[in-house]
Amino acid sequence: MTILLSTLNARYSHASLGLRYLQANMGDLRDQTQLHEFVIGAKTTDIVEKLLAHKATDGSTTIIGFGVYIWNIEECTKVVAMLKCVAPEIIIVLGGPEVSYESDQQQIVKLADYLVTGWGDITFPDLCQQIIKGPKPLMKTHIGKQPPMEDIALPYSLYSDHDIAHRTLYVEASRGCPFKCEFCLSALDKTAWPFALDNFLAELESLHARGARLFKFVDRTFNLNVKTSLKILQFFLDKLEAHPDDPVFAHFELVPDHLPDALKEAITKFPAGALQFEIGIQSFNPDVQALVSRKQNNQKAADNIRWLITESHAHLHVDLIAGLPGEDVDSFARGFDKLVALEPHEIQFGILKRLRGTPIIRHTQTFGLVFDPHPPYTILATNLIDFATMQRLVRFSRYWDLVANSGRFAHTLPIILGDTPFFSFMAFSDWLYKKTDATHRIAMDRLAGLVGQWLRLQGLSDASVNAVLSTDYAGQPPKLPNAPKPVIAAEHAPTVAPQRQARHLTA
Ligand code: SF4
Repeated sequence: MTILLSTLNARYSHASLGLRYLQANMGDLRDQTQLHEFVIGAKTTDIVEKLLAHKATDGSTTIIGFGVYIWNIEECTKVVAMLKCVAPEIIIVLGGPEVSYESDQQQIVKLADYLVTGWGDITFPDLCQQIIKGPKPLMKTHIGKQPPMEDIALPYSLYSDHDIAHRTLYVEASRGCPFKCEFCLSALDKTAWPFALDNFLAELESLHARGARLFKFVDRTFNLNVKTSLKILQFFLDKLEAHPDDPVFAHFELVPDHLPDALKEAITKFPAGALQFEIGIQSFNPDVQALVSRKQNNQKAADNIRWLITESHAHLHVDLIAGLPGEDVDSFARGFDKLVALEPHEIQFGILKRLRGTPIIRHTQTFGLVFDPHPPYTILATNLIDFATMQRLVRFSRYWDLVANSGRFAHTLPIILGDTPFFSFMAFSDWLYKKTDATHRIAMDRLAGLVGQWLRLQGLSDASVNAVLSTDYAGQPPKLPNAPKPVIAAEHAPTVAPQRQARHLTA
């Protein structure tokens, strides 16, 4: 028999951690289990052809397990539908967050043979054993059993040498989150479960020995248990000290209002270009935070972001979400301006999405929440932000990424933002959209020309515009004598974030 584990990743550089967990936990089926990853945008027929090429040739059972996520549900549905047309004998098993909740009406679930919801590490192999050895499972849906963490085999040896050389390596020291932000799937966890730290660090050690230098932690709250966080940071500090010419890079998600002194002390030891933090603020409005059950001390959060910016070399990527219940444009603008004043390297301006299973829907009536019925279920309007305004915010987000987060206009951006960052950039965004009628496929030289045109419209002289744009244009870092050199060598920078980080470092 043959078991194929498959998914469509959002980018080639993303290596699926979920599939590798399944493969690592297949027990005596592991030798018959293969992993086949694709990237969204691939032709359905190509994916189906490639999967069928690995089908069992001796007439025995073939099972294909698909990891289904918000970014691939539509394409996965097409793949499963085509497989069921051309090879109906293949058993299709689905898993992943996008099919773990509200799955009854989903087309892909109707097409599949089985569904594993929630944790699949143990339940998927059990289900495969039943399918192969019988008796045939009676139930279509199998609720994933959550085993003790020590029973889960760690998957890191399944990252191939090619993965290590060319892709982001996702790792996790814990699963789950103790907080209950209603827009987030992790709100359903109610707690976090750590893996045995020594085993985990041994796996990191072995990845490092194999050449891994870029580690992205998917732990929802890295700084929850400070003792654990410190040991992990120390692992990376030791590597940096032992191999200063071949540095590591680590990315963590932090809760912003919890940064004890011991953690700060460790963070300050990291050189530029080695550490990146993703920090969720989401909203600075206390009423909105209370509505979505997000517990956050805004003052502490702001103080910690300021401290990180001024006292550490960590690269900060801070998230805000527009479209939350109770938040109008003015309130969002105040939060945005407050965040801009803290000067994080990147602001991720997200638009609220209704993830399946999240409790945010309890506000639907009261706050007039209207979500796109199609993935990624983005909010279209609320009682405080109408559809047209929401579309302006969506474009703002896209242009912000192109102009601000890209790091390509580091010297020009403060001029665009002036004293009222949100409304100034909104005016620029509205104008840019009128000029281009596009939010994608704007070539960088055209964008630079348009930025210059906008600045002239605001009254800047040709000489000033040319001077500032020539410093920034095309991401050419200014030749500042004291600017820290990006310490990530090109061959160790396979993802967008570190490349952007390198640009921010030199700005
Ligand atoms: S948004 Fe962050 S802190 Fe809140 S539940 Fe999700 S993972 Fe936890």
